[in-house]
Amino acid sequence: SSAPAPIKATLFPGDGIGPEIAVSVKQVFQAAEVPIEWEEHYVGDQIDPRTQSFLTWESLESVRRNRVGLKGPMATPVGKGHRSLNLTLRKELNLYANVVRGVVESLKIITRQASLRVAEYAFHFAKTHGRERVSAIHKANIMQKTDGLFLKCCREVAEKYPEITYEEVVIDNCCMMLVKNPALFDVLVMPNLYGDIISDLCAGLVGGLGLTASCNIGEAGIALAEAVHGSAPDIAGKNMANPTALLLSAVTMLRHLELYDKAERIQDAILNTIAEGKYRTADLGGSSSTTDFTKAICGHL
Ligand code: NAD
Repeated sequence: SSAPAPIKATLFPGDGIGPEIAVSVKQVFQAAEVPIEWEEHYVGDQIDPRTQSFLTWESLESVRRNRVGLKGPMATPVGKGHRSLNLTLRKELNLYANVVRGVVESLKIITRQASLRVAEYAFHFAKTHGRERVSAIHKANIMQKTDGLFLKCCREVAEKYPEITYEEVVIDNCCMMLVKNPALFDVLVMPNLYGDIISDLCAGLVGGLGLTASCNIGEAGIALAEAVHGSAPDIAGKNMANPTALLLSAVTMLRHLELYDKAERIQDAILNTIAEGKYRTADLGGSSSTTDFTKAICGHL
C-alpha cells in the first residue's frame, strides 16, 4: 500500500535568527521522517493593503487552509500605518488561547465571551491531557471589575468539569509559589498580560528563552505554534541561536496533529542531546553552533 499523503503545514521562518532555527526544524523533521510538507511564507517588505500589515493575505490564507502552522519570531517593523505582525496573525486567525505564553499587548479588556472560551479551553485541555487541576490566576482583589468577571466565567466553566480541581490564586502569590515549588501547579489560565509575565518567569526557571515553546490555538481548530522568544537581532546570522524553542514548538504542532510517536521521538532526541552536554549552544553555556547542535539531534534520531 502507498504511504499516506503528507500533511500540509504553513511555515513562517520569520526574521533575525528565525530562518536559521527554521532550518533546524526542517532538518530534524526530515531525520525523523515526519510526514509534513511545509508551505513557506516570508514576511513581505511592503504593506499588503488587504491585511494592513507586512503579512500578505496569501500567507494568512495558507494557515486558514492548512489549519496548522509553525511561526518563527517576527521583528516588529518601525513606522506607521500598519498593524504589528503578531497582532495581525492573532486577530486575522482568531487565535485566542496562547498555550504557555503571549506576545506583549498592553491593552487590557476583559469580556465575558473571551473569558468563557479561554476558560473552556483550559478545562478541556486539562481533561484531554490527563491533568487534574486548573488554577485561575488573577488580581481580582484590586481589579475587581475586570478580573472579577474573568473569575466569574472560570467558575461557571469549572462547574461543568467536576472531575477537575479548580482553584483561584492571586498573581503575586502565584509568582512566589512558582519560584519556590512550580510542581504545586498543573494547568494555569489567566488573562494575557499575566500570562506574559508568568511565562517569562517560567522560562527563566527552566533555562531561558532558547528553550520555551508555545502554541496559539484559535477558532475553527487553527493552531499556530511558535517559540516564545523574538528575532534575537544581537545574534542573528551568526549560527549561534538555540533552535530548541522552535523545535519544541514544532513538537507541540505534531501533538496537535496527533502525530504522538514522532513528537515523542523528536522531543527525546532534543532532551538527550542537551542532557548529554556535548553539544550545547552558548545560551546554555556551551560553544556549539546551531548547525552542530541540530546535527547532534538528528544523530540521536
Ligand atoms: P528576543 O527574544 O529577540 O531576545 C532577547 C534575548 O534573548 C537576546 O539577548 C537574544 O540573543 C536571546 N535569545 C532569544 N532567543 C534566543 C535563542 N533561540 N537562542 C539564543 N538566544 C536567544 O527579544 P527582543 O530583543 O526584545 O526582541 C527582538 C525583536 O523580536 C523585536 O523586533 C521584537 O518586536 C520581536 N519579538 C517578536 C516576538 C514574536 O515574534 N513572537 C516575540 C518577542 C519579540
